[in-house]
Amino acid sequence: MENISRKGAKLQTKTQRVSFATLRLCVKYFLVTAVVLTCVGVASSQTKPARAHASMSPEAKELLEQAIGVVCTQAKLDPQSSVAIDEMQARPSLPVQSPEARAGAERAQRLLPVAKTLVISSLRQLSTDYGLQKSPRFNVRLRLAIARVNSVKRVRPDMDSRDNASVYLSRPHVITFGTIFLAGLRSDEGMISVLAHELMHIADGDNDSLRALVGAIGNKASDLTGLDIHGQRGEEVTCDLIGAMAVRAFIVSTPGYESVARRLARSVQHNCVDLDEGDEDHLSPRNTIRALLALNPGLVRELINDRF
Ligand SMILES: [Zn+2]
Repeated sequence: MENISRKGAKLQTKTQRVSFATLRLCVKYFLVTAVVLTCVGVASSQTKPARAHASMSPEAKELLEQAIGVVCTQAKLDPQSSVAIDEMQARPSLPVQSPEARAGAERAQRLLPVAKTLVISSLRQLSTDYGLQKSPRFNVRLRLAIARVNSVKRVRPDMDSRDNASVYLSRPHVITFGTIFLAGLRSDEGMISVLAHELMHIADGDNDSLRALVGAIGNKASDLTGLDIHGQRGEEVTCDLIGAMAVRAFIVSTPGYESVARRLARSVQHNCVDLDEGDEDHLSPRNTIRALLALNPGLVRELINDRF
């Protein structure tokens, strides 16, 4: 990493720390020739204190905690559950040609077109939900963001990326995917969630062009949870929210014999870690689930009511 010039608000200096992963951390590197965005599991230490505004009722909070319980119980029961990010990072590297990595790469490439479509519809939905569709300036940015999503063509499996997924924003048609990560997402729902997360970073681009939407979502998540979800935290939560929305729409369009709750849980259960820590720029994994479910109470209802 020695030829990385370190600048930019999103830059982290601890991305390459190897230890027990507790958090999916996404970082932009500014290389000589490229901007690269990497989502990686790292250990980290601290969560900021709560904001003053709490606007969820005690009953809603109780339901939300029950829904988290469903997600992380399914992580143990579901044979296709996503492996927790701390467990992924502790695993040995996996060759690209291993059967698990190949299966994951094939799954990712197969699902990329549907993930792109679902991300675009989720982006449009959120723009309406947050009152941004009337802004001509935002609409121009949204159109360009959608064009960036549409330009993504390929998933590139990479052994050295381990449990990371990366996007080089100068080559935004490729998502580089670590083989451990490919193998750890054992369902279409888990894979779509992560593909959608990366596609949302591509949509936002290297100039944070969707910052109006990201900021609004971060503010709302902060108000609902009492957690500080601004700046980079807001972007990550937005990417995860797009992932959960994409999975929800995928489930509706592909009904099957499995419960809706089991399938929905796969969109977030890589956050069911044992050691739950965040840092200044990132919510802890379990708080990530909390923020997503606070933003989307429909998911809470379905996780609790559609378990069978
Ligand atoms: Zn990310």
